[in-house]
Amino acid sequence: MGFSFPVPSTVSSKLDKLGLHRDEDLALHLPLRWEDETRLTPIRDLVPGLPAVVQATVQSAEILYRPKRQLVATVADDSGQLVVRLLNFYPAQARTLQPGKLMRFSGEARGGFFGLEMIHPRFQAVTADTPMPANLTPVYPTTAGLGQVMLRKLIVRALSQIDLSETLPESAYEGMEFPGFAESIQLLHQPEPGIRLADLESHCHPAFRRLAYDELLAQQFSLRLARKARADKHATPMKSGVHLEKALRASLPFRLTPAQERAWSEISRDLGSAQPMRRLLQGDVGSGKTIVAALACLQAVENGMQATIMAPTEILAEQHYRKLKGWMEPLGVEIAWLASALSIAKKRDAIARIESGQANLAVGTHALFQKGVHFRNLGLAIVDEQHRFGVRQRLELSKKGLEPHQLMMSATPIPRTLAMSYYADLDVSVIDSLPPGRKPVTTKLVANSRREEILQRVRNVCASGGQSYWVCPLIEESEKLQLQTALDTFHTLRKQLPGIEIGLVHGRMKTADKNAVMDAFVSNQVQLLVSTTVIEVGVDVPNASLMVIEHAERFGLSQLHQLRGRIGRGNHESVCILLYQNPLSEDARSRLKIIYESADGFEIARKDLLLRGPGELLGSRQSGVPLLRFANPERDIDLLELARMHAPKLIQQQPDAVSAHLARWFGTRMMLASG
Ligand code: ADP
Ligand code: MG
Repeated sequence: MGFSFPVPSTVSSKLDKLGLHRDEDLALHLPLRWEDETRLTPIRDLVPGLPAVVQATVQSAEILYRPKRQLVATVADDSGQLVVRLLNFYPAQARTLQPGKLMRFSGEARGGFFGLEMIHPRFQAVTADTPMPANLTPVYPTTAGLGQVMLRKLIVRALSQIDLSETLPESAYEGMEFPGFAESIQLLHQPEPGIRLADLESHCHPAFRRLAYDELLAQQFSLRLARKARADKHATPMKSGVHLEKALRASLPFRLTPAQERAWSEISRDLGSAQPMRRLLQGDVGSGKTIVAALACLQAVENGMQATIMAPTEILAEQHYRKLKGWMEPLGVEIAWLASALSIAKKRDAIARIESGQANLAVGTHALFQKGVHFRNLGLAIVDEQHRFGVRQRLELSKKGLEPHQLMMSATPIPRTLAMSYYADLDVSVIDSLPPGRKPVTTKLVANSRREEILQRVRNVCASGGQSYWVCPLIEESEKLQLQTALDTFHTLRKQLPGIEIGLVHGRMKTADKNAVMDAFVSNQVQLLVSTTVIEVGVDVPNASLMVIEHAERFGLSQLHQLRGRIGRGNHESVCILLYQNPLSEDARSRLKIIYESADGFEIARKDLLLRGPGELLGSRQSGVPLLRFANPERDIDLLELARMHAPKLIQQQPDAVSAHLARWFGTRMMLASG
């Protein structure tokens, strides 16, 4: 579609997959690494394990079964002989490797059974005077069916077509010693020999930093413009709801903490404004976000508007429903409950109550926002555990009439660098302390071989009236296997722990069954709850004081922190046991060490970011929205700060330059569609 030269449809579908739709996208598709193919190496001088280019004549080539079908050729130059082996090959490739032909082979040599060999080198037929490439050879990220040669050709073509002039005035780069845009792009695609590959690969080269900075600027522009656009939209201002708020506060068995009060007053003030609120409420697991959300809902209701709370899992949504019902029904507030698993009749009934306005508050899963649900007058939409939905997945709210206020809640604290980049269009409130009386959870790392001791611990806890979670191993590759493991664990524990009531919950259960088990756990009829990670978010049973996590080494850091947050909610000493299986990988060991040493969600999230990059934290895997491609907010914090400093001025003084810059970087797929 957006290329200035013809691209066959088979190729353009591959480019689509890579997110490359225009000449500009090709120009910004940077190499993963570079190979030095500017020099020939005599066969005699090949060093096993090092990449090299050899120019040699094919002596023999035959298809052998050894035991797998493969193409084996012997090639030679003046200095020696080399075996070339292709395990997968096309007939055309077999035809190229004809005895007598002079070819160039590029790859890594290694010592093989038949002497020195190259497996799967890249190769091309040449003549004695075919010139060597003048520059390093870029190796691009690609997808199956789109070869490097083709991709390189397209990129060279695109580079020759597009305008690489500067989009922004020099003032945007004041004091920074960066090369120009065109120069940076050229250099990264076609670096001259002699440049230090290590500088390019570590992304510290000024050319790379220049592009990272441009990208961060584009991100700041787009988020800030979205924020400005929002300022022009209208929401219904809602006066702070004195009556219902007072009544709810009076009925609570606790007082809000100062941190909760602060967050609530920020939210309440936003709700009173005619500008739609976009606020993120952050607070570590157990910090008490739900009650703040409830107060916000009441402010909407008291102003004659509807409110809604959406949760990522049915278990959590159901829990919210019950909790809110307990708090609000006595105040005369009507609540509707909606999840995909409801019977058609119940769903229909809930939808009707939402549409007529009879329900003041709707609680549910994403089913709430599917087609066919229309609120009568939605004033406030709350998304709980927002990180589970993905960073840029904004609510698909009916756009008729006024914009509702939006509140996003997250227990995954967002490190400062991420908040400064990805969330620059949101206001943030933080609940930075836990309610009083929480006892810190003790974390123990225990090798799986000591299982029997753990079983004894479960017996002790249950015998003294306490309750326990048992989290089954995560098996990311297969949901089926995961389910089977949960069932097996459940049955084994039943045998090993006679006399203890054990329940099982997992994601595939029918709603009614799931509810029955959760109910029984809440009321302490079930003492040990065996579960998959469905209990990861939100589940709140204060009497549970022990959690065993099997194969803890398979879980991510934030996930472990969330899971551990299910305990330590009551007034018992709580213990979280991380069972691990030896031998541990280096990576798993460092993760377990972090979770063992820290109970602070911010600290853990920051380390997680360093270990795994932003994708996981931001939930980009689910949302599929492109994150930053070049810049890494953590590594490039200096650039991020510069971008934040320069962006507002540029937006104000050079709006056309800003548009041109945005078009270059994001083009058709603008980074966000923030409403
Ligand atoms: P999260 O922020 O993880 O969603 P919740 O809202 O589920 O946390 O609150 C955790 C628990 O703390 C709940 O049982 C809640 O009723 C209780 N809680 C909330 N605020 C307070 C407070 N100020 N004092 C005592 N307990 C509180
Ligand atoms: Mg919560």
